[in-house]
Amino acid sequence: MRPELLYPLFQPVDSLKGVGSRVAPLVHKLAGPKVVDVLWHLPTGVIDRRYRPTVAEAIPGKVATLVLTVDEHRAPPPGSRAPYRVAASDATGTLTLVYFRAGRDYMMKLLPPGEQRAVSGRIEVFNDLPQMAHPDHVVPLSELASIQTIEPVYPMTQGLAPRVLRKIVLAALAAGLKVAQGAPEWLDPTLVARRGWPTWGDALRAAHEPADDDAVSPLSPARQRLAYDELLATQLALSIARAKMRARPGRPREGDGAMRAAALAGLPFALTRAQSTALDEIAADMARPSRMLRLLQGDVGSGKTVVAWLAMLIALETGAQAALMAPTEILARQHMETLTPLAEAIGVRIALLTGRDKGKPREETLAALEAGTIRVIVGTHALFQDDVRFRDLGLVVIDEQHRFGVDQRLGLSSKGPDADVLVMTATPIPRTLTLTHYGDMDISRLDEKPPGRQPIETVVLPTQRLPDVIAAIQRAIAAGNKVYWVCPLVAESETDDVAAAEGRYEDLRQILGGRVGLVHGRMKAAEKDAVMERFAGEGVDVLVATTVIEVGVNVPAATVMVIEHAERFGLAQLHQLRGRIGRGSAKSTCLLLYQGPLGEIARDRLQVIRTTEDGFVIAEEDLRLRGAGEVLGTRQSGLPNFRLADLAAHADLLDTASADARLILERDPDLTTPRGQALRVLLYLFERDAAVRTVRSG
Ligand code: ADP
Ligand code: MG
Repeated sequence: MRPELLYPLFQPVDSLKGVGSRVAPLVHKLAGPKVVDVLWHLPTGVIDRRYRPTVAEAIPGKVATLVLTVDEHRAPPPGSRAPYRVAASDATGTLTLVYFRAGRDYMMKLLPPGEQRAVSGRIEVFNDLPQMAHPDHVVPLSELASIQTIEPVYPMTQGLAPRVLRKIVLAALAAGLKVAQGAPEWLDPTLVARRGWPTWGDALRAAHEPADDDAVSPLSPARQRLAYDELLATQLALSIARAKMRARPGRPREGDGAMRAAALAGLPFALTRAQSTALDEIAADMARPSRMLRLLQGDVGSGKTVVAWLAMLIALETGAQAALMAPTEILARQHMETLTPLAEAIGVRIALLTGRDKGKPREETLAALEAGTIRVIVGTHALFQDDVRFRDLGLVVIDEQHRFGVDQRLGLSSKGPDADVLVMTATPIPRTLTLTHYGDMDISRLDEKPPGRQPIETVVLPTQRLPDVIAAIQRAIAAGNKVYWVCPLVAESETDDVAAAEGRYEDLRQILGGRVGLVHGRMKAAEKDAVMERFAGEGVDVLVATTVIEVGVNVPAATVMVIEHAERFGLAQLHQLRGRIGRGSAKSTCLLLYQGPLGEIARDRLQVIRTTEDGFVIAEEDLRLRGAGEVLGTRQSGLPNFRLADLAAHADLLDTASADARLILERDPDLTTPRGQALRVLLYLFERDAAVRTVRSG
């Protein structure tokens, strides 16, 4: 149960003063549904209103606060689009206040002729005369103090005036400060002292009442402190979940190596150093009595599948079964195709189970699985339906894990209560993100490609060169190569994107003749599969696709990829797409077509993708260029974004938080010491209730 102390922060926003039924949905949309969400809505900049010149001194372009006497109203003639002007002056000169679409009654009340008003806004010059359009503040002199000299600027949403939002934030801040008075310090006092961080309450105040520009920087002590709170809560929650997973009885699995030896002898190649190391790490984990929870991270084409297969054989050597789960039907089938000959070579019975299996065949598979005669099952999430039962599931391998939610990953163990878990990801996640998303999960990295691969030549071209590109692919096809042609998916309208892809498909068919195929997200799975099959085999030389072409789809004869509007793709996405070529021994080319003019970030991105194929380098650059939230594609991953931490700026804090979390759990696994109790409050504050429950029950 959430501590009572925190209740005020978890009230709905409309419990705050100033939030009525009109404003509540806007605040909800902007920050979130609860008071604490408003508290976490931090300013991104400040407006400095300390500049107090006379009219004669006022420098154009600067924000200034002036005291003026209202002289004369000049309303536009009815029906005119001219602005409403008010002349106001001090002893040194006249300044015109300009309002577009203003009513006379309102203006008279705001700026009564003959009276003095303090106005604050940006000084402009029009026809050599100073003016101010739509001052941010107009108040009687008695309220001059209400104009903040340093005014925080918040991310806004349409329909919510800055002044209204500010009032609401101040109400949330007041609630936060009250909670802070009663809250224990959850951070290590030595760390706080060494870093010179404020208390939580002071940090909240400093964040929402910044003293200057520096105070809104992510590197200010207050912002660092708040970010650290969030990071520590996250890391602690992940470590707790992990400790729980580990605490469940596992089983030591140490095969005799016979199946692995037979499998290795049958492979036409030797393992790379990276593959051998990863396999050793996996074998050591499986031999331990606790459960394995390991991430196998490797670029597209780095050879994860072989490693996973050999890991599955360890389970089989001990008499257990193994499962391989893929995020899509296509990938599951492709894994099945890859593994079937390997399994047959050593006499292992393998089967496929997806959502498409129905009726008698499905029942037979389920029966054989329960009897244990099927040793390896490959499938989609259909594997986790209730009626799927194993005789003894020893290892679960999950491919392309970022497509599955974290909860699914943690909940998956039900099929084999003591099964080891190996997660494969083709997204080379930067190290910092691995930490935040997987906690201190063990990691094996395949940072080396199998030998014999030719580097992919990547060329960046403006769209105007399209005719040259078409000529180039005509040559490629004539030489027996296959071509991917990727049309971008722009989120606004899937219909338009599909239309664009269809249009391109028609163009290319006219130019190249019949051997062009099309796949997009609106097609049925069976239709897509059919086209893919013809592309992998005979019949289709050029595959026009939206970004639905699945990660990992393997067509070694494809040596050319054209990506239209490459400037619209993220780095990770470009890298994933490009990974579909360069899979055979022939030289491959990637043509990135862009529509200029390019922004700075787009230019940087294309430069990075042109110069390196190293997924880990690309991922780090992606993080640098875009910020953490988008690297994984949060929409896809279902992972939460940070509210206070900015991983580009706070990466070092993440390391500290991770180490801190581990140490805390070593010393105080049940969080019962006074600091442990304080940390429980922190976990609740960041809505990690499940983690606290886990500690309790464990
Ligand atoms: P990933 O799943 O990491 O994208 P795969 O496991 O599909 O990569 O491997 C890509 C290709 O490389 C496959 O055709 C596979 O047989 C081959 N391969 C894997 N390991 C090696 C190796 N050590 N030497 C040569 N080829 C390899
Ligand atoms: Mg693969």
